[in-house]
Amino acid sequence: MKSYEHLFIDGRWVAPVKHGRFETIDPATEEVIANVAAASAEDVDLAVKAARRAFDEGPWPRMRGVERAAVLRRIGKGIRDRLEELARIEVRDNGKPLPEARWDLGDAAGCFEFYAGLAEKLDENAETPVALSDERFSSVARREPVGVAGAIIPWNFPMLMGAWKVAPALAAGCTMVLKPSELTPLTALELADIAANADLPPGVLNVVTGLGRDAGAPLSEHPGIDKLAFTGSVPTGSRIMQAAARDIKNVSLELGGKSPFIVFDDSDIDAAVEWIMFGIFWNQGEVCSATSRVLVQRGIYDRLLERLEEQTRKITIGNGLQDGVLLGPLVSRGQYDKVHEAVERGLSEGARLVTGGGRPAHLERGYFMEPVVFADVPADAYIWNEEIFGPVVCVRAFDDEAEAVRSANDSRFGLAAAVMSRDLARCERVARALRAGIVWINCSQPTFTEAPWGGYKQSGIGRELGEWGLNNYLETKQITRYDSDKPWGWYIK
Ligand code: NAD
Repeated sequence: MKSYEHLFIDGRWVAPVKHGRFETIDPATEEVIANVAAASAEDVDLAVKAARRAFDEGPWPRMRGVERAAVLRRIGKGIRDRLEELARIEVRDNGKPLPEARWDLGDAAGCFEFYAGLAEKLDENAETPVALSDERFSSVARREPVGVAGAIIPWNFPMLMGAWKVAPALAAGCTMVLKPSELTPLTALELADIAANADLPPGVLNVVTGLGRDAGAPLSEHPGIDKLAFTGSVPTGSRIMQAAARDIKNVSLELGGKSPFIVFDDSDIDAAVEWIMFGIFWNQGEVCSATSRVLVQRGIYDRLLERLEEQTRKITIGNGLQDGVLLGPLVSRGQYDKVHEAVERGLSEGARLVTGGGRPAHLERGYFMEPVVFADVPADAYIWNEEIFGPVVCVRAFDDEAEAVRSANDSRFGLAAAVMSRDLARCERVARALRAGIVWINCSQPTFTEAPWGGYKQSGIGRELGEWGLNNYLETKQITRYDSDKPWGWYIK
C-alpha cells in the first residue's frame, strides 16, 4: 500500500533504513500536509541495486517497444483517471493555482502517451543501416537503453518534471531511480503507485524522497548509475556534473534561466502585456523559462508600462484551490525570502518599482507576494542578470534591433527567449540571432511534448522532450560484419 512515509523500492513500499522523516508544507496555509520518508545513502543504494537488477536481469529492457508502450499508456491513463485528485495534491504541495495544476497533470499524462508512441516506433527504427566506404563490410547503428538512470527534479512542476524524465527513460528501456524535491515530494510517490498499478515490473521505477544532501548527492555519486538526468539550479547542476565526472556518467542538465522578451514598437500593446504577464506570472514566476527580462522599444515603452501596471494590479492572489486565483504563494519560506531580498536589492540598485512586492492585505498566512514590475532596470543590476524565480519582471527600453539582440544575448544563461512584432520577417531574423534553446515568436511559454526543450550556455546540456528526450536515454551501438569470402590476409598471407 502506498504511504508517504515509505519509499518505493523494487516494487514495494519500504520504510527508510534509518526511519528518517521530513515535513512537507502547504505554502498557502503554512500547515504540514504530510510526513514524508527521508532517504539516506543506504536507501539510495538499495534503490539503485534494485534498478540495476531490473536492468541486468529483468524483462523491461528486453521487452519489445510495443509491450513497454502498453505499460506507459496505462500510466498515462492512471494519471488521467486521478487527475483532479492529483492536481489538488500538487496545489497543496506547491501552491500553484488549480487550473495550472490540472494543466500540468494533463501534460504529464500526455507525456507518457507520447513516449509510448516513440517506444512502439523503436521496434522498427532501433537499427539503421550504415553505408560504409568498404563494401567487404556491412554495418548497422543500433539504439539501446543507456542503463540505469538517476533522475533528480525540482519543485516548480513536480509531477510534470517527473514525467519528462520517467516517460522517455522507460520508453527507451532504462530502469531508474527518481528523487523529487523535498519541497514537493507527494506526486512522485503517487506516480510510483500509478506505475505499480500499471504493472510496471518491480525495480524498473524506484522513488526515493529525501533531501538533496542526503538522498540526491548519494544518487549522483552512485557507481551503479549509468545516466544522470537533472533539473534544478546551476550550482546543484555543477555539483551533479562533478559527481558524474568521477566515473564518466552520461549526464543531461536542465538548469536556470534569465530569459529575455523583446517587444518591438509595432506590437499590439494588449497582446504584448498579456504575453509578458503570462511569461512571468504564470506558476508564480517559478518557471525556468520565465521571460523575466523584458526589452521594450522606446516608442511604446511608457504606454506599455502603464498597461502592464494596470493589469498586474488586477491579478487575483490567494490559495490556489480557490476559484479565480491566478497567483498562488511562493513554494516555501526560503523561496519567499529569496525573492523578497531580490526586490530589496533591485530598489537599492536604482531600478524603479512600478508595482508590487508587498504582502497582499487580505492574506495573513502563506508565502504570498504581490507581483512585481520593475522598470528602468540598470543593465548591471543583480535583478537584471540573476534568476529570481518569482513573480518579478524587469523592464528596460531599447532603440533598435541590433541593441535589443545584443542586450538579450548578454547573459550567462540561454534557456529561452521571446520576440514580438507585427513584422514576421524581423521576428524570424531575431529568433535566429538569439542564443537560446527555445525561442517564442509573438508568445511566451507554450510548451509542447513534441518539441526539443533545453538550454544554451549555463542553462544546461542536452535536450528533453520530443525524440531528443528519448535520445537522452539511448546509447548508440555499431554492429559491423565482415561479409567477404576472402581472408583478411594481414598476418596470414
Ligand atoms: P535545486 O538545485 O536546489 O534542487 C533541485 C533538486 O536537486 C532537488 O531535488 C534537490 O533535492 C536536489 N539537490 C540539492 N542538492 C543536491 C546535491 N548536492 N546533490 C544532488 N541533488 C541535490 O533547485 P530547485 O530550487 O529545486 O529548483 C529551482 C531551479 O531549477 C531554478 O534555478 C530553475 O531555473 C531550475 N529549473 C530548470 C528547469 C529547466 O527545464 N531548465 C525546469 C525547472 C526548474
